[in-house]
Amino acid sequence: GSSQSVGLIVGVTGIVGSSLAEILPLPGTPGGPWKVYGVARRPCPSWLSNHPIEYIQCDVSDAGDTIAKLSPLTDITHIFYVSWIGSEDCQINATMLQNIFNAVTPNAPNLKHICLQTGIKHYFGLFETDTKTEPHDSPFTEDLPRLNQPNFYHNLEDILYEETAKKGLTWSVHRPALVFGFSPCSLMNILGTLSVYAVICKHDNKPLVYPGTEASWNCYADAVDAELIAEHQIWAAVDPMAKNGAFNCNNGDVFKWKHMWKALAEKFELEMVGYEEGKEQVSMEEMMKDKGPVWDEIVRENQLVPTKLEEVGAWWFADIAFASQNLLSSMNKNKEHGFVGFRNSIKSFTSCIDKMKAYRIIP
Ligand code: NAD
Repeated sequence: GSSQSVGLIVGVTGIVGSSLAEILPLPGTPGGPWKVYGVARRPCPSWLSNHPIEYIQCDVSDAGDTIAKLSPLTDITHIFYVSWIGSEDCQINATMLQNIFNAVTPNAPNLKHICLQTGIKHYFGLFETDTKTEPHDSPFTEDLPRLNQPNFYHNLEDILYEETAKKGLTWSVHRPALVFGFSPCSLMNILGTLSVYAVICKHDNKPLVYPGTEASWNCYADAVDAELIAEHQIWAAVDPMAKNGAFNCNNGDVFKWKHMWKALAEKFELEMVGYEEGKEQVSMEEMMKDKGPVWDEIVRENQLVPTKLEEVGAWWFADIAFASQNLLSSMNKNKEHGFVGFRNSIKSFTSCIDKMKAYRIIP
């Protein structure tokens, strides 16, 4: 049948892109029925190939490739931009979004709305930048001013504002907290990373030792299920109350890593060692640097989807998460504008792990 809505997911193999690819085509999805295009750099991975989407392999940092592959898609009505290059470089990340606009806006007359995913780094700054600027105090609210330092999120927002204004399109900016998802093609999948760590601990007959700081073990933290971000973006795509605004996105509750660590140990039937008094943070990047061959063996023995340790283990990212505190964001603006979606973080945590098992990403 004919589709009233046609979505372009940019970054469809990523942690949120893969959830959008699952949810958008479903019959009950708001604004549907949806026809869906999904763009990513690599060939379509096997675990994504069952979804009824049209997969397009394209390097969106390449202007020519983007024009060639995306300008023929004249029926696009909505863009879901859930990508980044894998470095915080302002120029390359900006070019990617600009290339999308250059390829799509002149050719898609029914284009209506663009969802741009950024994140809570908007409030505390980039990971790679050593800066003297004070981060904002949490809980973060959407009306806080930009920090006075370079951030590719500013570049992306500015392109979004300029391009949508030119054509009278609507937009929304999504600022998720730490994402709980299942994609093995994500550059920052905390649960994938921790699950792989747990699987390796089990293989090596070792307990699950918490490597982080005392503060990160004890403080309140928040996260967001990738499915909830997909729902959030679909809400913004269709609901007039969400137009032309920035919205935080978390599960709507808080947790402590000490409780998640227990859940992780139980999930993989491991003995656990929590934070121990006086202990300094141990770098997971350091701890896991020689484990590549071990992971290869685990993948082979269990006939998992083939992955390399450096693809599924973002140790640097876990090191940051386990040194962080006070990064809570507020969901009040969402509720005031009618978005009342939520997840139970502990259930979100375990269901993402179940999903990785079901997809044969981990044993
Ligand atoms: P991701 O790493 O999970 O996925 C990135 C996607 O973009 C992949 O599909 C990848 O193939 C695609 N991609 C990358 N370069 C490409 C290129 N040149 N051409 C085509 N496709 C390309 O991404 P993510 O974690 O969802 O990150 C998106 C945004 O969300 C970033 O700004 C990130 O900072 C933010 N964010 C992420 C998290 C998290 O926990 N992962 C949390 C909050 C905010």
